[in-house]
Amino acid sequence: MDIAELGDSILKGDRRALSRAITLVESRRADHRAQAAELLDRLAVAGRQALRVGLSGTPGVGKSTFIESFGMMLIGRGLRVAVLAVDPSSARSGGSILGDKTRMDRLARERSAFIRPSPSQSHLGGVARRTREAVALCEAAGFDLVLIETVGVGQSETVVAEMSDLFLLLLAPAGGDELQGVKRGIMEMADLILVNKADGDLKPVATRTCSDYAGALRLLRKRPQDPEGFPKALMVSAVEETGLAKAWDEMQALTEWRREAGHWDRARADQARYWFRQEVEQALLAQLGTAENRALMQRLGDNVAEGGLAPARAAEEMLAHLRGAARIAP
Ligand code: GDP
Repeated sequence: MDIAELGDSILKGDRRALSRAITLVESRRADHRAQAAELLDRLAVAGRQALRVGLSGTPGVGKSTFIESFGMMLIGRGLRVAVLAVDPSSARSGGSILGDKTRMDRLARERSAFIRPSPSQSHLGGVARRTREAVALCEAAGFDLVLIETVGVGQSETVVAEMSDLFLLLLAPAGGDELQGVKRGIMEMADLILVNKADGDLKPVATRTCSDYAGALRLLRKRPQDPEGFPKALMVSAVEETGLAKAWDEMQALTEWRREAGHWDRARADQARYWFRQEVEQALLAQLGTAENRALMQRLGDNVAEGGLAPARAAEEMLAHLRGAARIAP
C-alpha cells in the first residue's frame, strides 16, 4: 500500500481512503502497524482538529436516533460529521451492538457523514487505541465533528472521555429512584446531560427528570474547566428533533469558553500524556504475556510459593530478565 498516496487522499476528504486507513489502523499485523504509524505521522503534520464529542447512554435510551437527528441538523448547517463507536460488548463477543449498519440510515446516506462501527478486538485497550487512531484519521479527513459513541457500561466511558473534548450523557425520562442508578463517576464526566424522549406522554416525566439531574449536577464539585452554569441538563427529543439546536448552542458556547480560557489545549495535552502512558503500560503487559515470560513468572512463582525465594527477590529477577529482553538500561 502506498502510504503517501493514501495520506493525500485522506487529506482531500476521500471517504473510501478514510475507510481503508481505519481498516489499516485496526489491523494487528506488525507490517500494518508500522504503516499505520507512518500514515498517522504524515497526517499529524496537517494539524487539523475536529470537535471530538463523546456520547454515552444505556441501550434503548436513543443514541442512534439522537446521532441521526443531531448529525442531520449539523450537516444541514454545512458541517461534516463522523461517527465512531467504542463498544465493549464487541470486544467480548465479536458481535457489536453499535455496529449495526441499518442504524442511522439517513445519516449513512449523506456525503458529509461517515459512520464506522466499533472495531472488534479482544480487549478494551485495543478498541481504545484503534478508535483514537480512527479519530485522528477523521480529523485529517476534514470532519468538523467526530462523535464517539459508547454504551454506558463501566470502563468504556473513561476511554471515550479521554479522547473527547466534550462528553454528553444521554438519559431517558425516569422516576427518582433511577437517578441514583447513574454512577457518580459518570455524572462527573458529563459536560451536558441530555434527557431524551421529551415528547408526547413522556414530556412531564422528562421535565421532572431533567430538573432532578440539574439539581444533582449542582451538587457536584466545581470543575476548573467549566464556566458558570456548566455542566448542564437539557431536554431533547431525537424523534421530534426538538432541543437539538439548543444543545448544539450550549456545546459551542462551552467549547468557545474552554478555548479562550486555555482549557481546550490543556485538556488535549493531558489526554496525549494519558494515552502515552497507556501505550507504555499496555506494551509492558504484552511483554509480560509472552510464552517465555509467562513460563518464567510461573517458575519464579513456584519458587516463591515453596519458600525458596522472597517475593521481592523473585520480582527483581523477573524485572532484570525483562530489562535484558527489552535491552533498556536499568
Ligand atoms: P440506542 O440503543 O441508545 O441506540 O437507542 P435507539 O436510538 O435505537 O432508540 C431506542 C428506542 O427509543 C427506539 O424505539 C426509538 O424509536 C426510541 N426513541 C429514540 N429517541 C426517541 C425520542 O426522542 N422520543 C421517543 N418517544 N422515542 C425515542
